[in-house]
Amino acid sequence: GWLAGQVAVITGAASGIGRAVAERYLEEGALGVVCVDADRGGLDELAREHGSRVEPVIGDVRDHAVHERAVERALASYGGLDVLVGNAGLFDFRRPLRGYTASALAATMDELFAVNLRGYLYAAMAAREALEAAGGCMIFTASVASFHAGGGGVLYTMGKHAVVGLVRQLALELAPRVRVNGVGPGGTLTGLRGTQTLGHGDRQIDADPRAFDERVSAAVPLAFAQRPRDHAGLYVLLASRDNARAVTGEIFMSDGGVAARSI
Ligand code: NAD
Repeated sequence: GWLAGQVAVITGAASGIGRAVAERYLEEGALGVVCVDADRGGLDELAREHGSRVEPVIGDVRDHAVHERAVERALASYGGLDVLVGNAGLFDFRRPLRGYTASALAATMDELFAVNLRGYLYAAMAAREALEAAGGCMIFTASVASFHAGGGGVLYTMGKHAVVGLVRQLALELAPRVRVNGVGPGGTLTGLRGTQTLGHGDRQIDADPRAFDERVSAAVPLAFAQRPRDHAGLYVLLASRDNARAVTGEIFMSDGGVAARSI
């Protein structure tokens, strides 16, 4: 496997893209994967399926202590850390600016950015030293909304654009020891949820899979809504020391070809 003997921390690993990445990493020979998520049920399932190669860490990515715990688990259980995958996130269900009051905007922005951005930065902060020691890498889940409008509402799109800045700045700051890259999925059938602030804590992006499929198929050249597995190989490639040694500060898009579309 491309990741033989490697150790990863993955946030948002209980479902969707994070879970698919965790499973692919194990298939590629990873020694162990520390899976961070607020969803205890999903983590328990993953741990039951994979035994001692999965180390669940239950908690909220908005707390720095959760990331410290995850890195400690990696060192204690598997003897090191090679890859951090920052991935846990929330969606705004494409709410436009006109759909907010001033106070709802502030509260939603605080919640969404705390999870989607501070959660990534805290993960990076907690993992930096161990990754420098190993000559490892970071991979963050960006989005089609990192480069294009309309994939989310204004807050989600702003936040995912900011992930590009995070990747580029950290790539520079952490070179030459640690590579920092991103993967940019397009519309993907997952249970991606919204903010508590907007009352969307249980609303899921795949609530109507057929409608989602149709909307994404019509919008992208490759004409299908993606599944979590469709993206997992890029996380393997970026984590591979043999195959991506010269890659840093990049976002690999995996969105069905949105940028190839003309009028
Ligand atoms: P998902 O809901 O299946 O997975 C996200 C996971 O993050 C869940 O298990 C959830 O419990 C966890 N999580 C959310 N908030 C958390 C918190 N505060 N603390 C700890 N865990 C938390 O959704 P997904 O689509 O797989 O999302 C993964 C990433 O992919 C997100 O960053 C999302 O923005 C991004 N993304 C998704 C799509 C899509 O269409 N589904 C497209 C582009 C990018």
